[in-house]
Amino acid sequence: MPSLLPFSIHGSWYKGNLHTHTTQSDGKLTPVESMQWHADHGYHFLGITDHNRLTNPFEFNENPPLLTIPSIEVSAKRGTVEYHVICIDVDRIPGQVGCDPQEAIDNTTSLDGIAFIAHPYWHDLSFDDLLSLRHHIGIEIFNTGCWLEIQKGHSLVHWDGILRRGQKVFGLAVDDSHFAYPDHGKGWIMVRSNHFNRMSIKQAIKNGWFYSTMGPEIFDVKLDGRTVTVECSPARSIFVVGDIYNCPKAAQAWDGKPITAAEIELHPRQKYFRI
Ligand SMILES: [Zn+2]
Ligand SMILES: [Zn+2]
Repeated sequence: MPSLLPFSIHGSWYKGNLHTHTTQSDGKLTPVESMQWHADHGYHFLGITDHNRLTNPFEFNENPPLLTIPSIEVSAKRGTVEYHVICIDVDRIPGQVGCDPQEAIDNTTSLDGIAFIAHPYWHDLSFDDLLSLRHHIGIEIFNTGCWLEIQKGHSLVHWDGILRRGQKVFGLAVDDSHFAYPDHGKGWIMVRSNHFNRMSIKQAIKNGWFYSTMGPEIFDVKLDGRTVTVECSPARSIFVVGDIYNCPKAAQAWDGKPITAAEIELHPRQKYFRI
């Protein structure tokens, strides 16, 4: 049974947080302290995304303790709807405060960067607000800061809503850490890559060769016909969720003994699944 990407790639897993703030905007840690905290906690790469300010890690440390990618969080607006656009690997500001979100996305992609939409739930974005955008790689589906601050950190419903309506974008877990309270180390992505450098990590993220997590590790996902198998670290449940109302099907461990694998049949009319 064939493994799906990125589990079929020969390479290694790299842990990264693509949304964090420093004293360059409203964070408590300096860029040097933030880089060190992430390096000390098993992260391989970091996007420092200060509000409307491009933080170049090399200005603060010529030899960062982990791969740190120049990035920014742009405050955009369309009519009365506010968007925060996370722009990864840019060497200039891709949009001024109040610009249209598509402008920030397009400028980021023309700089060969990666753009995704931050915290849809925190901004109360509708499906239409998200569906109107193009050329971004995804949306945040978990944001630690928004979760701890106002209980609007989970945006899985947004992801399913737009996937179901045909917009194929990736879901990213991030911290959006400001370090004023324990908003760090709770959501991240695991990227699969052959090589470890800025270009290869960025390309792997663009390709979707990553998964998002708040802790569990996923070791393998296979698809054979309409049978999905999953192997993971011990978990309470393994859900395979899709676009048919009587999904999800799930393997559960209600008796308390964690499960590490599941084999689940997709619904005959199911068009996508997420795990
Ligand atoms: Zn934000
Ligand atoms: Zn933020």
